[in-house]
Amino acid sequence: MDIEQFRKAGYQAIDRICDYYYNLQSKPVVSSVEPGYLRECLPAEPPQKGENFDDIADDYQKLIIPGLTHWQHPSFFAYFPTACTFEGMIADLYASSTANPGFNVSGNFMIEDAVFNPSLQWSASPACTELEAVMMDWAAQLLGLSPEFYNTSGMGGGAIQVRGYLASDVESNQTHQPQSTASDSALIAVVAARSLYQRKHPEAELQELVIYTTSQTHSLGLKAGMVLGLSVRVIDVTWNDHFSLRGDTLRSALEEDKVNGKKPFILLATVGTTSSGAIDNLPEIGAIAKEHPDLWVHIDSAWAGVALSCPEYREALHLEAINDYAHSFCTNFHKWGLTNFDASTLWVRDRKYLTEALDVTPPFLRTAHGDAGTVIDYRNWHLGLGRRFRALKLWFVLRSFGVQGFQDYIRRTIKLNALFASLVKSSDQLAIVTPPSLSLTVFHLNPKSVATHTESAARDSLNSLNKIFYGRISARNDILLTSTVLNGIFCIRFAVGSARTEESHIHAAYDLLCKEGQAAVDLWEQTTGEQAVQRL
Ligand SMILES: *Cc1c(COP(=O)(O)O)cnc(C)c1O
Repeated sequence: MDIEQFRKAGYQAIDRICDYYYNLQSKPVVSSVEPGYLRECLPAEPPQKGENFDDIADDYQKLIIPGLTHWQHPSFFAYFPTACTFEGMIADLYASSTANPGFNVSGNFMIEDAVFNPSLQWSASPACTELEAVMMDWAAQLLGLSPEFYNTSGMGGGAIQVRGYLASDVESNQTHQPQSTASDSALIAVVAARSLYQRKHPEAELQELVIYTTSQTHSLGLKAGMVLGLSVRVIDVTWNDHFSLRGDTLRSALEEDKVNGKKPFILLATVGTTSSGAIDNLPEIGAIAKEHPDLWVHIDSAWAGVALSCPEYREALHLEAINDYAHSFCTNFHKWGLTNFDASTLWVRDRKYLTEALDVTPPFLRTAHGDAGTVIDYRNWHLGLGRRFRALKLWFVLRSFGVQGFQDYIRRTIKLNALFASLVKSSDQLAIVTPPSLSLTVFHLNPKSVATHTESAARDSLNSLNKIFYGRISARNDILLTSTVLNGIFCIRFAVGSARTEESHIHAAYDLLCKEGQAAVDLWEQTTGEQAVQRL
């Protein structure tokens, strides 16, 4: 493709993307293709001769789009929001147009270069590093993080995380683009915390070290343990505490482990769990953490964190505690933060904990320039060497929306979720399971006269009724919701976040859920031969 052909194909691509967005609402949310559909449509081998680009572009429309789940669809209420924006798309286009990988080559050449010139990452493309350093400070301010986390502090700082190639990836022969996710951020926090702990306690054996998570922590905790070969303790959090980790629970775990010779060195706390939006009790945890200075506290706020942009949510999300003592904080701008995948931001209170764990530069080769922090050498802040130019997305998004526009969007989605929650509360059929959290409501079908769900027989009946209900919702392609299990209760999650979702979509979703709820009750009565309400 030459430049003029690119111009033409590029215009066509943008036209087609616009059409996609114009037509999105009339598309099913969920694809109806069967597994393996694409292999049947594609030749088994790459073409010997290059093909006409028009054909390639047409095949994207014909073969790929029908196999997509449309996360930007206004009736997509599954998983978590992944609001993307045209600003973000354009930034991604520009970023890939200069193909600026920093360190993205493999081989000894790169490592030697890195060793002999610590500022090479910067000089590989000054704008990439500098924009990221500034954007992380903008984002920190947007969220109300303490200036201790700003890059300008010279002490703490933030980076968009990048995962490089791990030994396990190489073994499993996986090839992938370096990505930035909350899982990478947590992994890096664990690596930094482990390294810090080992420096303080050189006698500690690796097998004594323990990562603390809760029963509601995202699987990133278990994964970090697997990747690093470390034990993970899953602390049980309870229904009565709304699945929030309390100080006393943490203290008992720490005391128990101390007696057993275990060395808990990091707690992965969550502000806004994926399952129910639970928020660990950071003020209580802070009091315990101060008694245990060896415990690194990482805050995973992958989807909820961007709500800190609105001052009215800062108290509920424990911003003060985060600013007071958290060692590291992560949120994903690529979830609810209007920035296209991927942009997982990680801040640390002390950058040297990252660089001491990850810097491969021998001390005698460090330059005053690099060490003084005048040049940030991001390659020492994470696993990856090559880095995509993600900061450009944040720059375009934050400028185009402004702080107010960003806040308006967050508030609007929270309001839409409140509308859904109020409809559920007014319903005879549906019931809220845990308090709605920001843009997430966890509910289930629970006809009014049902006995409380503490009775296990009633709970089992309710669960089988809800599985029928969820099965019916999942069989539809005009809406998508996901399920979870809380305290043995099968529940359905309603996560609002698509930038195109409006009140009408919330009402339509609610009406549809009521209809399917009634159908599930009817079906349940037929199959069990009992009256749902009496039996329950
Ligand atoms: C979505 C989510 C994650 C995982 O995020 P990735 O960026 O995909 O790794 C982690 N923690 C929480 C609380 C989440 O909601």
